[in-house]
Amino acid sequence: MTGAIVLCGGSGTRMGPIGVNKTLLPWRGEPLFIHSVRVFSSLKMDVIVAAPADDLEAFKDALRAAGLKAKVVPGGGDRYLSVLNGLRACVEKTDIVLIHDGARPRVSPELAERVEKAALEKGGAIPALPCVDTIKTVEGDLITGTPTRSGLKRVQTPQGFRYDLIRQAYERFKDESGRFTDDASVLEAAGKDVYVVEGDPGNEKITVPQDYLGLKDPVTPEISVGIGQDTHRLVEGRKLILCGVEVPFEKGLLGHSDADVAVHALIDAILGAAALGDIGRHFPDSDEKYRGISSLKLLEHVMNLIREKGFALCHADITVTCQRPKLKDHIEEMRKNLAVTMGVSVERVSVKATTSEGLGYEGRGEGISAMSAATLMKN
Ligand code: MG
Repeated sequence: MTGAIVLCGGSGTRMGPIGVNKTLLPWRGEPLFIHSVRVFSSLKMDVIVAAPADDLEAFKDALRAAGLKAKVVPGGGDRYLSVLNGLRACVEKTDIVLIHDGARPRVSPELAERVEKAALEKGGAIPALPCVDTIKTVEGDLITGTPTRSGLKRVQTPQGFRYDLIRQAYERFKDESGRFTDDASVLEAAGKDVYVVEGDPGNEKITVPQDYLGLKDPVTPEISVGIGQDTHRLVEGRKLILCGVEVPFEKGLLGHSDADVAVHALIDAILGAAALGDIGRHFPDSDEKYRGISSLKLLEHVMNLIREKGFALCHADITVTCQRPKLKDHIEEMRKNLAVTMGVSVERVSVKATTSEGLGYEGRGEGISAMSAATLMKN
C-alpha cells in the first residue's frame, strides 16, 4: 500500500495576513489542497492530510464537500513534526509513502507515479529540476562561494520513500526538527541514498501572494452564449427587410420598426449572452423615435452597449424560417450587412434559411420567424 501525506499545516507567513490557511484558498472552485488529495486518491493511495490543529474541521468539511476520503491528523509545531504525525498515522501495511506540500495543487498523476516507482526501486526518490539561476553562498552580504550550477538541482514534492526507512529516520531526528527543510534531507542524515527523478515545471509551490494570483489562469477567457427568437406577421403594403436586405416580395413584415425579424432575434441573443435584458426593454415599441427605424441601427447600439461592458462578439448564428420567398440568393449580402454593422469579420456571422415544410404560420405564409445564438467573450 502506498500512503500519501499532504502537508497543510504551514503558517504561511510569506503569504501575508490573508487570515486563512493558504491551502484552503480557492482555485478552480475548490481549496488548493483538495487538488492534490484528488490526484493521490485517483492512484488508490491512502491519503493523510496534516492540518493545523485548530483548523481540523475546515479540512474535514472541504474533503466531505469534494467527496474525497482522507484521514485528517493535526500537524505539529513545524513541517518536520507534521510529517512525523502523518507517518505515525499511516496504516500498518504501508510500504511506500509520498510526502507532498498541500500548496502544490498542480501535481500530476504522472509525477506521483514516477516518484512512487523510483521509491519502490531505490528506497528514496524526489522530483528535481535543473537550476537555471546561478547560486551563491554568502555570509552576511559577502559571497563565499559559487557552486557549479550543473551539480545543483531544485527539488519539489511529492518526495517518495520506503515507509520503514523514512519513519525510522524521522523518529531518530525528532529533537532536531528545525534542521530540515525537506524529507530527503532527513533520510540523507540517516546515511541513506536518495535519488532524483525528473520534476515537473508546472508543479510550482504557492508561497507568496503573486504565486496564488498567477494560478488564476488569467488567459482563460470568459465565454457566454445567448439565444434569441422572434416572429413577425406578413402583411401587404410593407417592405420585407431581413438582415438589412430588402427582399423583393409581395408582402412585408409588420412592426413598429422595419420589423427585421432576423436582426431582432440576433439582438436578443447578444443581449442574452451579456445578461442585459431584451430588445423590448432597450427599444420599447411605444417610443416614437423607433418608428420605421432600420433594425441595423438598433444592432449597432447594442454592440456599443456590450463593448462598454467589456464583451466582444466571437460568433453569431441566425436561422430564418420562411416558406416564401426563397432567401438563398440574399444570404451573403445579409452576412455582410451584419458583419459591417457589428464591426466583425464576415466569417464570424452565419445566416441560414429554412422552410417549415408548409406547417404552421410560417408554412401558411402568415409570418416569418427567426432564431439566433450569439457567443460573447469577456476581456
Ligand atoms: Mg421583433
